[in-house]
Amino acid sequence: SAHQGKFISSRSKESILREVDAVTKMPDFKGYLSDIGGPSANMYKMKGKIQSICDRCVAPSCISPVICSNLDTSHQPLTELYQAVDKHPKVKKSFIGSGIRYDLLVPEFNKKADPKELEAYTEEVITKHVSGRLKVAPEHTSDTVLKLMRKPSFTYFHKFKKMFDKINKKRHLNLQLIPYFISNYPDCELEDMANLAAETKDMGFQLEQVQGFTPTPMTVATVIYYSGYHPYTLKKIHTPKSKKEKEEQHRFFFWYKKENRNWIRETLRKVERFDLMDKLLGSERRSENRIDSNERKKSRRKVKPAKKRKRGKRRKK
Ligand code: SF4
Repeated sequence: SAHQGKFISSRSKESILREVDAVTKMPDFKGYLSDIGGPSANMYKMKGKIQSICDRCVAPSCISPVICSNLDTSHQPLTELYQAVDKHPKVKKSFIGSGIRYDLLVPEFNKKADPKELEAYTEEVITKHVSGRLKVAPEHTSDTVLKLMRKPSFTYFHKFKKMFDKINKKRHLNLQLIPYFISNYPDCELEDMANLAAETKDMGFQLEQVQGFTPTPMTVATVIYYSGYHPYTLKKIHTPKSKKEKEEQHRFFFWYKKENRNWIRETLRKVERFDLMDKLLGSERRSENRIDSNERKKSRRKVKPAKKRKRGKRRKK
């Protein structure tokens, strides 16, 4: 987005290693570096292969909707940097506390990158630089919403999770993958949130890292929020703004809380999304079905005597 720009400034490996050395000499240093990443940690040193092409380029993003073929997305300099930091005799462990663009690690999305380099980086991060939980930001499951965010399809998150689970299992790490999601984004409908809840539940997540959309200056989403139109296509786009709308969207994140289950059942019944009701409420929904059918049977039994009475009255006449 415009407030961040699309060009990445990267410090040299030597400069970073000099700072690491300086930190290790501090009197209270115990051997642990809490964060050696920066914003979008794995985009270190990414830049155009041919700078003159970039100089003329007006594309708003280098990685959306697909990764530009002129962008060098090699992860090798970063893998080597992490390894160099860990070689320092006073460093016991170094962590990546900043966000990682997981989509750039998925070979099906980052098609021009060497898959072996991506695998080497992913393995290096997961095995040596995560302290218990790896936080990533798929943001949403709806491709419509993701497109507005300039983020790739959620299918790539499924692929990344498979890579994470495989390494986690192979190395007996017992790490947790923590995905971050957002509600109330422009063009996000209540049903999108129900789908998000059902799909992430199916993947085994109980979400906790969630947030409601907050307009940020100089972003496409904020222009849509204020104007009601997409600035590029001039298509009219709705953004949830009322307190009720915002609270309802957010509530789907917490499908597992007892106080939300009745509300979810009623909301999904109104839009006839019984499939999502089944997915989110599971056995509770099935037992509710039994109650429903029992109630239907009871009401049928009540109807019969009424008919008999009617017929009896007629005979008297
Ligand atoms: S989109 Fe491609 S050509 Fe344009 S600035 Fe990014 S890397 Fe350079």
